[in-house]
Amino acid sequence: MSQGKALVLFSGGQDSTVCLASALARLDEVETVGFDYGQKHIVELECRSRVLKELGKAFPEWQTKLGADHMLNLRELSQISETSLTRDMAIEMDANGLPNTFVPGRNLLFFVYAAALGYRRGATTLVGGMCETDYSGYPDCRNDTLQTLAQAVSLGMDRAFTIDTPLMYIDKAETWALAEKLGGQTLVDLIIEHTHTCYHGDRTHRHDWGYGCGTCPACELRANGYAKWLKSKV
Ligand code: ZN
Repeated sequence: MSQGKALVLFSGGQDSTVCLASALARLDEVETVGFDYGQKHIVELECRSRVLKELGKAFPEWQTKLGADHMLNLRELSQISETSLTRDMAIEMDANGLPNTFVPGRNLLFFVYAAALGYRRGATTLVGGMCETDYSGYPDCRNDTLQTLAQAVSLGMDRAFTIDTPLMYIDKAETWALAEKLGGQTLVDLIIEHTHTCYHGDRTHRHDWGYGCGTCPACELRANGYAKWLKSKV
């Protein structure tokens, strides 16, 4: 088993693409896993294979480290949760102070599934794009939650898993900066053109920061982060 083998939770969005680049820059062998949980923005999943292909083409040194891509079906998640990500509902705040884009338990499930897959594949570093700064209050994006989960998974599978979250303490502007640091303007351009973040799955409107409706919370975060990053460069 390679100590440097990682499994990256990869959705085809901006954050998980930067996480993937970060893993490829640091580790010897990297595999990817995506989840179909009945999300409305299924278009994000369609971007996955394109991003993987383009990354390999643009960065041959990463291509040699990039291993198998896995896709897991978690459709039951949409049957047990009421959320605007999986149902046809407007995005708004719930009485508990969380946006109704929150899918309870989603990241916990993702990492348990990733660990089970990583166990079989010999990958004990699990990489995810969760972040405390822009996390909209999602409690399963907190570092405490994820590090405690890493302990539970390690105990429960009797293997030492690490949960690695390169974006945990940086904001969206710094995520753009990290992309540039890892892969220069080539990676920034690839993210703009091929990754997808919009909650509504809109790929008809092209902005300087990429495709999206431009008004949903995910588009706003991405657009504001991009503007802030550009401003920080001058
Ligand atoms: Zn949008």
